[in-house]
Amino acid sequence: MTEYNGKSVYGGIAIGKIHIMAKSEQRIVRHKIDDCNDEISRFEKAKTEAQSQLAALYDKAKKEVGEASAAIFEIHQMMLDDDDYLNSIKNIIAEQGVNAEYAVGITADNFSEMFSSMDDAYMKERAADVKDISERIIRILTNSDAGKAMSNEPVIILADDLAPSETVQLDKNLVLSFVTVHGSTNSHTAILARTMNIPALIGVNIEISDELEGKMAVVDGFNGVIYIEPDEELLAKMQRRKSDELEKQRLLQELRGKENITKDGKEVLVYANIGNVKDLAYVLKNDAGGIGLFRSEFIYLESSTYPTEDEQFQIYKKAAETMAGKRVIIRTLDIGADKQADYFNLDKEENPAMGLRAIRICLTRTDIFKTQLRAIYRASKYGKLAVMYPMITSVEEVKRIKAISAEVKAELDEENIPYNNIEEGIMIETPAAVMISDMLAKEVDFFSIGTNDLSQYTMAIDRQNPKLDDFLNPHHEAVLRMIEMVCKNAHKENVWVGICGELGADLELTERFLKMGVDELSVSPSYVLPLRNKIRNLDLSK
Ligand code: PEP
Ligand code: MG
Repeated sequence: MTEYNGKSVYGGIAIGKIHIMAKSEQRIVRHKIDDCNDEISRFEKAKTEAQSQLAALYDKAKKEVGEASAAIFEIHQMMLDDDDYLNSIKNIIAEQGVNAEYAVGITADNFSEMFSSMDDAYMKERAADVKDISERIIRILTNSDAGKAMSNEPVIILADDLAPSETVQLDKNLVLSFVTVHGSTNSHTAILARTMNIPALIGVNIEISDELEGKMAVVDGFNGVIYIEPDEELLAKMQRRKSDELEKQRLLQELRGKENITKDGKEVLVYANIGNVKDLAYVLKNDAGGIGLFRSEFIYLESSTYPTEDEQFQIYKKAAETMAGKRVIIRTLDIGADKQADYFNLDKEENPAMGLRAIRICLTRTDIFKTQLRAIYRASKYGKLAVMYPMITSVEEVKRIKAISAEVKAELDEENIPYNNIEEGIMIETPAAVMISDMLAKEVDFFSIGTNDLSQYTMAIDRQNPKLDDFLNPHHEAVLRMIEMVCKNAHKENVWVGICGELGADLELTERFLKMGVDELSVSPSYVLPLRNKIRNLDLSK
């Protein structure tokens, strides 16, 4: 068994034989021509033919993978009409008195080099496109076909690179996966692979040789690995993973759009946790009812300096808009402890998990906090946002937060900036917050229980320390009783309760949580469907 790593552009497991897609070598011979005008009109005719091929490809792609993905062929049509491109080809024919194939080839090289050297990622991608359209014209001019024929059993396609037009022309039913040596994450081929739900890897450092043709392989699109001639153990493991995936897809078909109600009628909200707007795709893919925890600190961690109000506003707005009226709970900055950003210049601490972190930083450095709140409130106009505050230990903290939030709203009013009065909640993730949850419930709209930190602080087990795994009982009765206590205290004040820590996804505890009265469970996107399935099969009256 040999394995090669690459970059995954779409997850999933594919198991099957390799088919190498080698481009038919387009050897372009340069030769002198007698009549430049004749040669230019030969080129013009080929260009017209290319345009009609692209129009047909556009229609095919639109039907199979949707309008957005098909748009690449409109772009190709436009590129074929670009004056700079056309003038370059005609000039080479006229000035050098050479054949059209050669003029197209040289122009393709020059333009793609120029695009590749640009800083703009979008323009860089155009390098592949200009090669693609040029190869099409050359094929027409030389009467050659598009490459090796596909086999008639489903295969893993291995190629040096795949142009978007090659990708879309493949028979979807015969492609298990794409694996390429080159290519980029945002190339249209990668986008098409995602749209077609096909596991795909790019940038795989593998030498393509005919010997690989027909060999058995496994593509692990989750981890970006291709295994060639896998051993039995790996094959069995991957087959299990694949059937889990299929089960998930089956669940999705079955559950899409359905409510999460137990057999005896208790409705539960099942939301997803995200750390980034890129995760929104997984939220939608898994049909979550909302976002129960947007870990906003990742915006800070991915930045080399404090993200501005506007940068944050754009991100929260995008989340609100994408979720289209479904609840999106943004947790304010939970930096500190294991999540450090240098530019915060936080002192080294003896006990960072119990140190200056999360809301404690926000209440110490209110300028940072106010910037974030302004961005959240401004974005609230674009969907159903809610805000929640981490690491609460006292009523005083909540009162201070409310005073700051009132200040922010007053400033927005003064500046005539619109916002909605959104729900405000807190995380219950310290034993202190649990014990005074009756008092805290009078101050907020909802609670979200952070079982990761709550377990850490309750059992005195550092969640970062793997040596303590043997001592960690994730089902510790102390934590479960705390959750029950929080539910009771919350409901007395008509405050709803969610769980957004990892325990929320533990299917062994779902029944107990629902019996305690938990109203919402927010879990990683991939756990949403199994959890919804579990809820729908529970009967709490039994
Ligand atoms: C938690 O503590 O359970 C939680 C959800 O927050 P985080 O894991 O980000 O600390
Ligand atoms: Mg936490």
